[in-house]
Amino acid sequence: MLDNVRIVLVNTSDQRNIGSAARAMKTMGITDLVLVAPEEQPEGKAHALSAGASDVLANARQVATLQEAIADCGLVLATSARSRTLDWPMVTPREAGQKVVHEGRAAKVALVFGREASGLTNEELQMSQFHTHIPANPEYSSLNLAMAVQTLCYEVRMAFLATQQENTPAEAPLAESYPESKDLESFYAHLERTLTVSGFIIRKHPGQIMNKLRRLFTRARPDRNELNILRGVLAAFERAATTPNKKEKNNP
Ligand code: SAH
Repeated sequence: MLDNVRIVLVNTSDQRNIGSAARAMKTMGITDLVLVAPEEQPEGKAHALSAGASDVLANARQVATLQEAIADCGLVLATSARSRTLDWPMVTPREAGQKVVHEGRAAKVALVFGREASGLTNEELQMSQFHTHIPANPEYSSLNLAMAVQTLCYEVRMAFLATQQENTPAEAPLAESYPESKDLESFYAHLERTLTVSGFIIRKHPGQIMNKLRRLFTRARPDRNELNILRGVLAAFERAATTPNKKEKNNP
């Protein structure tokens, strides 16, 4: 199950934090590290700080965008040093650990961490199903990046060990199967296209409508089947908008 857990670091500026994050992960049994366009390549300093976890560092993948890093994930959790950045579904780090372990049995899951200086952008935060915040000192709530990785990985490990200790027979299968991030993103792109063509979204003044719709669908969390229905609805609307009305054709 822990093999399905991915740690994603976005635009990290200090390679030493990448090395320390790799070490934090490996101590908790997590090894899948993805770096989104790191500002500094992980070299000597990162390897020194990763200590015995240089294998995690050596196997880390690098991609250009967060979207690529999470494309195949069925659950994405974004972390924030602030307690409420957007009005988005929030979970505590403990609940985050439990969700990761529960859903990680059936799908890839990602925990996403932001830039040292500025965290994650709103757009990046909106690519996740849940936000999580380590309830630190409200007057000084920003942890070092690798220490935030350590804390979340610890919660994942605790939740994982709890399931190992439970004397339950085979665990109940997951009731829902959630779409991968890339399928959600294509749905949002399709929705935006349809709303723009229909004139509901005015190209020059798109406003907040897509952000609000994203929040609505994130709260509802459609499963794969429901997302397919929504795609079908959009396709039907598109067809209706482009085919001439039959009645009119028959009775000119
Ligand atoms: N000044 C930035 C701080 C970013 S700290 C801001 O206000 O957003 C760098 C990263 O470490 C964050 O993006 C987050 O991924 C993680 N982090 C730091 N403190 C955290 C906390 N209290 N809870 C959750 N994540 C935290």
